Amino acid sequence: MSVVSRAPAYIRSLSPYQPGKPVSELSREAGIPEQDIVKLASNENPLGMSPRAREAAVAALEEGARYPDGNAFALKAALAEKYNVDTAQLVIGNGSNDVLEIATRAFLSPGDATVFSQYSFAVYPLATIARGARGIQTAARHYGHDLDAMAAAIDESTRIVFIANPNNPTGTFLPGAEIEAFLARVPPDVLVVLDEAYTEFLPPEKRYDAIAWIARFPNLLVSRTLCKAYGLAGLRLGYGIAHADVADLMNRVRQPFNASVVAQAAAVAALGDEDFVRETAENNRRGMAQLTDAFAGLGLEWIPSSGNFVTVRVGDAEKVNRALLAQGVIVRPIGAYGLPEWLRVSIGLPAENARFIAALRGALA
Ligand SMILES: *Cc1c(COP(=O)(O)O)cnc(C)c1O
Repeated sequence: MSVVSRAPAYIRSLSPYQPGKPVSELSREAGIPEQDIVKLASNENPLGMSPRAREAAVAALEEGARYPDGNAFALKAALAEKYNVDTAQLVIGNGSNDVLEIATRAFLSPGDATVFSQYSFAVYPLATIARGARGIQTAARHYGHDLDAMAAAIDESTRIVFIANPNNPTGTFLPGAEIEAFLARVPPDVLVVLDEAYTEFLPPEKRYDAIAWIARFPNLLVSRTLCKAYGLAGLRLGYGIAHADVADLMNRVRQPFNASVVAQAAAVAALGDEDFVRETAENNRRGMAQLTDAFAGLGLEWIPSSGNFVTVRVGDAEKVNRALLAQGVIVRPIGAYGLPEWLRVSIGLPAENARFIAALRGALA
C-alpha cells in the first residue's frame, strides 16, 4: 500500500491547473531568445507594474528578513478607505486565487456542493474537489453564466456559488442588475463568491458597485485582485470584501503570513496610483480593437470580451498554437475548458498584438 494510494480519492482525482507557458520554457524548448518571445497567455499587465508600486516593493526588500504584518494593517487601511468598508470586512490573499481557496476552506465540508458555470474559471472546480466537495456545473449561455440555471441548480447541499464577472476564459459580462436580482433568489445560507478579477477593465457604462450590496446580502463575498490591472501578478496580492462575520471566519483558516512584505508594500502603493490603472485600461481598450479588427479581417469568430483578453475560434487550436509557439508567440489553448477550437489571447502592447496577428496569419495560412 503506497502513501499516495492512501490520499483521499478526491485528491487523487485532481488534475493540476494548467498555467500559461513561461517565456523561459519556450526559450529553452525552441531555442528562441527570451527577448524575441511575446507572451499573451496569462492576462498579465503589458505595462508591467506601476512605478510607484515598484519603488515601494524595492524599498520593502529591506524588511525581507521580517515576517509580514499578518493583519496587513496598512493595506487594509488603504482598502477600507478606498471602498468605504470596515477593515473587519477584509480578507487579504496571496492573489485572489488564495481568497477563493480560503472561502472553500471556511465553508465546505466533504459532501457539500458548489455551483459554477461551464466555461468559468478552472480554480472553482479545483478548489471544490480539493475539499471533498462536489461541483455542480451549469450549462453556459452564449459562453457566459446562465443565472437562471445556476439558481435552479442550488440544492440542500450547496454551500457556495461562484460567479466570475467578467468571466475568464470567455470574457463574457453580466450586467450588475442581473447579479443583484440573482442574489435576491439565493438562499441566505449559501455563499455567493463574486469574482471580479477584471472589474478595473470595465468601461464606465458597465460599472456597478457590488460592495454596496453586502449590507443587504451578508452571504456575498466580493473577490478582487491586484494581479491583473494593477500589475502585481508575480508578487501575488488579492482581497475579499464581505460581511465582517464572513471575513472573520475566513481569516481563521487563512495562512497567517500569506501576503509577503513586498506584496503588501507594493499593493499599498499600487492602490494609490489610479493613473496607472487608467492607462492600463486605455491600452486594453485600444489593443482589444486592434485584435478584434484583425479577427474580423481574417474572418474569425470571437467572443466579445470585457476582460484584458479575448477568445477567438481558430479551428484546430492545438495545431495553430504549435505554429504560434514556433514563431515565439505564447497564447492559451483552452481545450481543457471544453473549447478545443478556441485560443485565449491576452491584450498586449500594440507591437505585441501586431506580432501575434502576424504570427496568427502565418499559422492559419
Ligand atoms: C486571474 C484570475 C483570478 C486570480 O488571479 P490572482 O492572480 O490569484 O489574483 C481569479 N479569478 C479569475 C476569474 C481570474 O481570471
